[in-house]
Amino acid sequence: MSHRAHDYRHLVERWRTVARKSGVPLRRLVRADGYEHFYLRTPALAQTGGIYFSAGIHGDEAAATEALITWAEQQGKKLRHLPLLLLPCLNPWGLVQNIRLNRQGADLNRGFDRTDLPVVEAVKRVVAGHQFEASVMLHEDYDGQGIYLYEIQRVQPHWGEALLKAARKHLPTDPRIWIDGRKTAKGIHRRRIDKKRFEQIGYPEAVWLHFEHSERTFTVETPSEFALERRVAAHIAVIEEVVLRVVG
Ligand SMILES: [Zn+2]
Repeated sequence: MSHRAHDYRHLVERWRTVARKSGVPLRRLVRADGYEHFYLRTPALAQTGGIYFSAGIHGDEAAATEALITWAEQQGKKLRHLPLLLLPCLNPWGLVQNIRLNRQGADLNRGFDRTDLPVVEAVKRVVAGHQFEASVMLHEDYDGQGIYLYEIQRVQPHWGEALLKAARKHLPTDPRIWIDGRKTAKGIHRRRIDKKRFEQIGYPEAVWLHFEHSERTFTVETPSEFALERRVAAHIAVIEEVVLRVVG
């Protein structure tokens, strides 16, 4: 386990190694806030189907970026045969500073309805034309008392319960009934999207994906006060469960 979870240069080196070993190129997404951003698109990904994984849009949620690279490292050559779009770290400046926002003080996860954020625009370009079976955003919550998730309501049966179950050997399910001012049951906040509400507060990545590019959309939150190893393991368990459900 790396204890350099806020070391972006080290993170990129690890992704370069994954790229070399798997044969999936590490592509340049955009340069913003003084950092190169990257993405990977596996050759197995078609226009329809597959999975979108993203991490690090909030810089103070280090288990997210750490989990995605650790899981990718574990795949070896198999990675290229999985249908994936991977966004390893959408806010490197924030990761290095251990800050949620980007360098201009913007919450990128409220900016997917904007057109003036270079990182968001770059993500939109890369995703154009894709319709994913599932999208998973890896996050953390410093108020968290366990793992929980948001599942946008559309396709049934729902997967949220199974994803939390997969993570349970590493982290308890967050027992809170009210999370972020919204009612939550057994660690799952499942909702239909109120477009008007998000037009006021700004579009999160998940809401944009739900409307434009993804059948199922999950935002997974681990508790950032718990040990890094457990948070990383829990995120990896969720990633594995989603891959299993999409790819078999
Ligand atoms: Zn977050």
